[in-house]
Amino acid sequence: MCRHLGWLGADVTVASLVLDPPCGLRVQSYAPRRQKHGLMNADGWGVGFFDRSSHGPEGGVPRRWRSPAPLWGDVSFGSIAPALRSHCVVAAVRSATVGMPIEASATAPFTDGGWLLSHNGIVDRSVLPATTSAESVCDSAILAAVIFERGLDALGDTISRIGAADSLARLNVLAANGSRLLATTWGDTLSILRRDDGVVLASEPYDDAPGWDDIPDRHLVEVTTEGVRMTRLD
Ligand code: GLN
Repeated sequence: MCRHLGWLGADVTVASLVLDPPCGLRVQSYAPRRQKHGLMNADGWGVGFFDRSSHGPEGGVPRRWRSPAPLWGDVSFGSIAPALRSHCVVAAVRSATVGMPIEASATAPFTDGGWLLSHNGIVDRSVLPATTSAESVCDSAILAAVIFERGLDALGDTISRIGAADSLARLNVLAANGSRLLATTWGDTLSILRRDDGVVLASEPYDDAPGWDDIPDRHLVEVTTEGVRMTRLD
């Protein structure tokens, strides 16, 4: 089970979300605290963020930096991340499922050009509808392509259907488009932190400060500038 983190709020540095917190994704890459499946997340990392400095949609243009190497050893990213600022971020560290390729294209966040998406979990690829747009043969990449094709407004319904088709699936998904941050819980942990300057959704709290709440299993969370909405998934 990988670990992921999403942010929607004021412009902040990627380093402040991913590298600086005492138990942030950098530390979760070798010492996650709540991971139930797998021991560490050494099979790659990815950071995606929406860039409003370029011409494009109001929420910004998605940009990604992904690697099949462990996050803890990436000194180049460590040097640049304090200079990357965004209002909307999706980041992940990966523990590859057995049989899945370890390569940058199998590493979240995946994109369709408008959304960034990460998946914590596992799904039997044979229950997923056929798609030709997946970035990799990895289950998460195929799941992302299927979600993009059905549209993110149907995210809750898509997860419920796939969960019904594969009773062993774990389907914690996190997605953002620059103005909305969506997440599902289906088999693994997710916590929310409401800060004065924005909202964090993360597989596990990045520190022990008060304010983190756990999201119950089988829920859809939607964060916008209007607030946070939570719906149960059947
Ligand atoms: N199944 C996905 C992969 O192989 C995600 C794994 C995970 O959540 N640990 O990358």
